[in-house]
This record gives sequence, structure tokens and C-alpha cells, in this order.
Amino acid sequence: MEFNSSRIEEFKDIWVFCEQRHGQMMNTNFELISEGRKLADERGSKLIGVILGHNIAHLAKELGGYGADKVIICDDENLKEYTTDAYTKVFCDVVMDKKPEVVLIGASNIGRDLAPRCAARLHTGLTADCTHLDIDMNNYVDFIETSSTLDLSKTKFKMEDTNLKMTRPAFGGHLMATIICPRFRPCMSTVRPGVMTKGEFSEEKAKACEVEIYPVSIDENDLQTKVLEVVKEAKHMVDLIGAEIIVSVGRGISKDIEKGVQLAKELADAFGGGVVGGSRAVVDSGWLSADHQVGQTGKTVHPKVYVALGISGAIQHKAGMQDSELIIAVNKDEKAPIFDCADFGISGDLFKIVPMMIDSIKEVKN
Ligand code: FAD
Repeated sequence: MEFNSSRIEEFKDIWVFCEQRHGQMMNTNFELISEGRKLADERGSKLIGVILGHNIAHLAKELGGYGADKVIICDDENLKEYTTDAYTKVFCDVVMDKKPEVVLIGASNIGRDLAPRCAARLHTGLTADCTHLDIDMNNYVDFIETSSTLDLSKTKFKMEDTNLKMTRPAFGGHLMATIICPRFRPCMSTVRPGVMTKGEFSEEKAKACEVEIYPVSIDENDLQTKVLEVVKEAKHMVDLIGAEIIVSVGRGISKDIEKGVQLAKELADAFGGGVVGGSRAVVDSGWLSADHQVGQTGKTVHPKVYVALGISGAIQHKAGMQDSELIIAVNKDEKAPIFDCADFGISGDLFKIVPMMIDSIKEVKN
């Protein structure tokens, strides 16, 4: 099949690679489909979900319900469990055949493995860990021929219609970089779970969604690895992304780590069904495991209530929690930056304040 990623005028439609594990959709798919819907409407193009796996056709309509116009199913026994070579081969085959303009992939472990492989094979650009996506509808001036000295008088330009503007934190989160991929297609982007908002499910849209079964071509020669067995980790991981109440602790608990974590648990319980999160300082120190980390390199969360105990409010921490519905911060330094994004700030020692908060909540509840 003829494929040249620089012939950008041949590419159309917005695609979401929809990851499934053991026939279960990942929640990020619905977030990306909802976001992709907005981009497709703005761009005037179709939104297509692509699912790879085995016996997975039943998953298609669910994506339709969140806004996909069409779902492409790639079903093969070799795709039952994720392997880099099988998924890269099949996904690139479909991309080369159908030429999407944009490909969005969830930044899960699998997405982070698959996306760069595909980008390299397709000879296009990839922006990883995006936190915001937008279509640039203003005409963008694109270089098509540039002299080696970058002499603008010797440079030819062409006006290009649209580009996907992919925004992500750069330089340790101190600035947000907006990146475009003007010369090659598809524009590829990975997006972290929890960053985009999942839209409403519509039964009507689910029924209207078109499904295409794509003929997969893959044989033993395409595969370098074989999954013999999948062993699930027995450890219980904290579900920060789905939590409605999160009580996070920071280095401010260092005076008595055990008691600090215990107080956070009690406060989370007092609110009702809350979970404990933490800053990177706490995770790096080994006081909580990595699945508790909130922030740029941890989880992005949007709970109804986020309580920050002894957390200074570094930009990288705020990046993961500032869109929470209600933020309560407790910090003994009244100038701590966490107070800038807090709805309620309490200045003082968390070891004195948290027991009072717990008592007050219990009192109100009784
Ligand atoms: P500190 O900054 O040390 O703050 C402790 C706070 O506790 C202080 O404000 C202090 O006043 C207060 N305090 C102390 N004792 C008490 C007490 N008894 N009662 C009340 N308050 C008290 N950080 C993250 O959290 N998540 C990330 O994902 C993340 N990613 C990063 C990525 C990069 C590339 C980089 C460079 C950094 C990242 N960081 C991240 C680290 C971040 O910059 C901060 O270092 C970190 O968030 C600080 O954690 P902290 O607020 O717990 O600790």
C-alpha cells in the first residue's frame, strides 16, 4: 500500500486507539472519545475509534455512545494479549490504509509503548503526555523549503489550514508547551488518564455508530514475542482517578509519618469513602506507594473534594489536582502556594487541625 506521511492533504478523520484488556474497555477511551468528538466537530471530520483484540466486537457500540461515528475492529487471536510487535504491525497497517489526520492514544503503559513505535514506523511526530488539545483553525504558515542558513528571503511558504495543537508541561512543569506537527500526518498524541472529561453516554448515538471489521493480516513472522501467561498483581492499588474524595499528604507529615497517614485515612473515612493520595515528596521518601502520587508525574484527579495536608503546592502537584471541585488546604505556612488554588485554607499544624476536622465532620453527620 502506498503511504507517504508528508502528503498531508491525503489524511482525514480523527482516530482514537481504544485500549481494551481482557475484553474490558479502559476508562481513558471514553475520555478520549469525548475529547475527540469536540475536535472532530470543530474540524468538520469524522471521529473513529479503533479496537484491537480478540472477540471484542461487542465493545464497539459503547464507544458510539460517547460520540464515535464509527468503530474499526481488528480481531485476531494474535491480538488477544498486547504485544508490541503485533499491535504495532496491525495498527500501522490500518493507519497506512485509511490515513487518519489525528491519532489519540491513552498514556497507559500500553499506550506509552505503542505510540512511539507507531510514530517511528509511520514517520510522523508524537507529542507525549498531553494535557490539552485544540485544533488551530487559523491559517498556519508552514515552511516547505528552507535554505540551510534559514534565510527567510530564500524560504518558500505555504498556507496550511489546520493543525492539532498539543499542549503538555515542559521544563519540569514550569511552562506549558504547545506543539504542532505541521509536515507529517497523522498528528499523534498520548493523553494521560483523567486529564480529559468523559461526556454523557447516549443510547441513540450508540445505535447510530457504524462498525467496520477490518481484515487483519498477521502471521508468525511478524511476531518476536509470545505472551505465555498474564499474572495479575495481587497488590491492591488505590483508585485515585475514580475517587470522589481524596485526602493527600505531603512532606508536612514528616514529624510523625505513621500518624500523618493515619489521620489522612481517618479524615477520608469521615468524609465517607475517601482515599489517601500524596505528593511526590511522600512517594519518593517511600511513605506511600507510587499509585498514591498526585501531580504531573502521578495521577491527574478531579474529585468532588481534595484535601491537601502539609503540601506546599508546587506547580507539578497542582497540575494534577487544581481542577478538583472543592480544594481544602492545611499548611502551617500561610504563604504556601497551595492556598492560591484552595477554596478553603487553614493555616496551622495539621496534627492539631485534622483531628478537629474529623470531629466536626462526625458531629455534623450525627
Ligand atoms: P514540600 O514542598 O517540602 O512541602 C511541605 C509543606 O508542608 C510545606 O509547605 C510546609 O509549610 C508544610 N508543613 C510542614 N509541617 C507541617 C505541619 N506540621 N502542618 C502543616 N503543614 C506543614 N510533585 C508532586 O507532588 N507530584 C508530581 O507529580 C510531581 N512531579 C514532578 C515532576 C518534575 C519533573 C519535577 C521537577 C518535580 C515534580 N514534583 C511533583 C515535585 C514538586 O516539585 C515538589 O517537590 C513536591 O510536590 C513537594 O512535595 P510537598 O509539598 O509534599 O513537600
